[in-house]
Amino acid sequence: MSVWQRAILHVDMDAFYASVEQRDDPSLRGKPVIVGGDGRRGVVATCSYEARKFGVKSAMPSVMAKRLCSHAVFVAPRMSHYAQVSKELMEVFGRFSPVVEPLSLDEAFLDITGMEQLFGAPMEQAWKLQKAVREAVSLSCSVGVASNKFVAKVASDIKKPGGLLVVQPGEEASFLAPMPVERLWGVGPKTAERLRSQGFATIADIAAAKPGRLDGYGVMGAHMQALARGEDDRAVDDDRTRKSLGAERTVEEDIRGLVSVRAQLLPLIDEVAAELRAKNLRCGGIRVKIKTATFHRHSRELQLPEPIADALSLRAAIDALLPRLELDEPIRLVGLSATHLVDGQAPRQVSLFGNTDIGSDRDERVDRVVDGVVAKFGKDMLKRGG
Ligand SMILES: [Mg+2]
Repeated sequence: MSVWQRAILHVDMDAFYASVEQRDDPSLRGKPVIVGGDGRRGVVATCSYEARKFGVKSAMPSVMAKRLCSHAVFVAPRMSHYAQVSKELMEVFGRFSPVVEPLSLDEAFLDITGMEQLFGAPMEQAWKLQKAVREAVSLSCSVGVASNKFVAKVASDIKKPGGLLVVQPGEEASFLAPMPVERLWGVGPKTAERLRSQGFATIADIAAAKPGRLDGYGVMGAHMQALARGEDDRAVDDDRTRKSLGAERTVEEDIRGLVSVRAQLLPLIDEVAAELRAKNLRCGGIRVKIKTATFHRHSRELQLPEPIADALSLRAAIDALLPRLELDEPIRLVGLSATHLVDGQAPRQVSLFGNTDIGSDRDERVDRVVDGVVAKFGKDMLKRGG
């Protein structure tokens, strides 16, 4: 028997949105189903495994998906419905561990360290969880178990759909060794290309890199090498430890109406976005609160389909949220909180807010550039248009 100092389970639903649609509508079963917009600028959010056989993938333009698989059935995303199913899922996860960190609607880390007496060895717990999920929501999931988050996440991905893989303690590095460098968190296509041009083709190559050879990648270099060696000591971050992050402002003269409230929120959005990025976090929810001149407080929260950290996405989320607040009374304080904070390095699902509006990596990169300039020259150098 191996000794588990720490046992982490990563669970990920298989083709979640598409599977929910096939579950709810039997006529879709066995067919290539694409959840996403089918307009000219539509994007594939998720597709069923039948569609994947034709090469259709998440984040692919729908136009291209149609070319690859002309008989695919397009279904418009039903986010609030998926969120409801997600709630049921999280409830099941909570039965297996008090420490659950959701990464998105259909994916979570569970710290199951020390749960052997209740549920058996990690392998058995993973199997029981798969069974419990199937019984609760009639959907399949893939589960990876390892001594840390990164390896557990890779393990759940490798045998999709319906996979279950346990990486024994001590075998993390050898498990990762043959994989391409893209498997490492934070390594996108560009970095991968650069790594390959320097002779790093596999994760093993990075694990074995001599000191200094990864210096050109800044702090990322050391980070990549640690992951490549199967080292990742980040804790599973549950609700109790995860704080929300926010900013508020008391206005000099009472304001009222959507336009004025929005104007007061804009600088707060930039502040919150900058803090998220500084702490390497993304938020899966956003909350706006209002205090009226008569000291009544109310707030509204919006759950996002995927975690975000850039100001443009936050702004779009706020615009979706503001019409749901009553803003007719005189208002003396406005506040904004980023909630459901998750690790900023976790890979992301495709945005459902449209094509490129919310959560695109480009926005986040733009904001990082802005952060850099502000750090160097001060805030007044760069003012963004309202
Ligand atoms: Mg999934």
